[in-house]
Amino acid sequence: MFKTKAYSAASATSALASATIPRRDPTDRDVQLEILFCGICHTDLHMVRDEWHDVFPTVYPCVPGHEIVGRVVKVGSAVTKFKAGDLVGVGCLVDSDHTCPNCKAGLEQFCPNQVLTYGFPDRHKTAPVTYGGYSDSIVVDERFVLRIPPNLSLTGAAPLLCAGITTYSPLRHWGVTKGKKVGIVGLGGLGHMGVKFARAFGAHVVVFTTSPGKKEDALRLGAHEVVLSRNADEMKKHAASFDFILDAVAAPHDINAYINLLARDGNLTMVGAPDKPLPVAVFGLIMGRRSFSGSPIGGIAETQEMLDFCGQHNITADVEVIPMQKVNEAYTRMVKSDVKYRFSIDMDSLKSE
Ligand code: NAP
Ligand code: ZN
Repeated sequence: MFKTKAYSAASATSALASATIPRRDPTDRDVQLEILFCGICHTDLHMVRDEWHDVFPTVYPCVPGHEIVGRVVKVGSAVTKFKAGDLVGVGCLVDSDHTCPNCKAGLEQFCPNQVLTYGFPDRHKTAPVTYGGYSDSIVVDERFVLRIPPNLSLTGAAPLLCAGITTYSPLRHWGVTKGKKVGIVGLGGLGHMGVKFARAFGAHVVVFTTSPGKKEDALRLGAHEVVLSRNADEMKKHAASFDFILDAVAAPHDINAYINLLARDGNLTMVGAPDKPLPVAVFGLIMGRRSFSGSPIGGIAETQEMLDFCGQHNITADVEVIPMQKVNEAYTRMVKSDVKYRFSIDMDSLKSE
């Protein structure tokens, strides 16, 4: 066991603060990495504040962070995929049972025995729960470590490990290709990646935003059209016309307004995870044989596929790089939808702690 620097929350109402946490010495199959950058996902904020208490109660201390990129410093004797010096990523998953039908299908995100990067019981007993990437070091089983294409900027690549795969996976699953009309709701960390992928897959992309100031950016990021979702007339123009809508909004909002924009057999998928239930008016579903569903992150193989796709198409997140010491301020801004479009923490800043 060794000690490493981190930022951690002691309770639902405390700010993130400097801490020292234990990491396990790498076992045969482990990769130890020096974390260089870690994205800030809205999930980190939900978890730090225990906003999902009824589904995923937070265990404190909580060290968030699941958009990790870093450099390999050490590998176990049985590791074959990585060596010291490699640039790698770690997302939301750090373990699964490898035997269930989901794991066998390469869909570890559905494994009933999955271990998430932070806040899950730590099978290695290094700590009560796993600790995430707001830290300068992490040790992970090589099967959950991803290769980062060398042409991508590391600051912008970090958010691909969650925001990237969480939007890539449902867009692929629901067959978003050329000729499809696709809506992306909420231009935050996930939403802006959804726009980039939907555009790269050839779809006609419409962004729905509550922020008039994001209109120009939405077009620059790849949208063909932008709708201010609080303007009922603008919404009405798109009635019954979408093949697919991806909703990446972090707060409760009127989901029926979007269901009514789906064409016959259209699908609305939630990746955003508001802390309160969203009432659904079922006639909106019945009348157009429309469907309403959800999607969690993505499996390891698909995450690598997504990273390789980003390498080929030069896709990264638009980031604002911040030192760790600004993380609480970043959370305040995220609640106000004031992120363009992902914070990426520079772990060099931990050296001064
Ligand atoms: P984010 O960067 O904060 O973006 C959320 C966006 O939602 C905001 O930028 C804003 O966009 C819009 N929004 C916020 N409040 C709103 C409101 N009251 N009404 C309507 N729109 C509102 O968050 P994120 O990191 O992209 O995460 C989004 C959600 O996805 C979170 O709930 C997060 O926990 C969840 N998530 C789920 C998965 C998964 O596996 N399914 C993975 C990662 C994250 P505009 O300014 O454009 O309106
Ligand atoms: Zn996330």
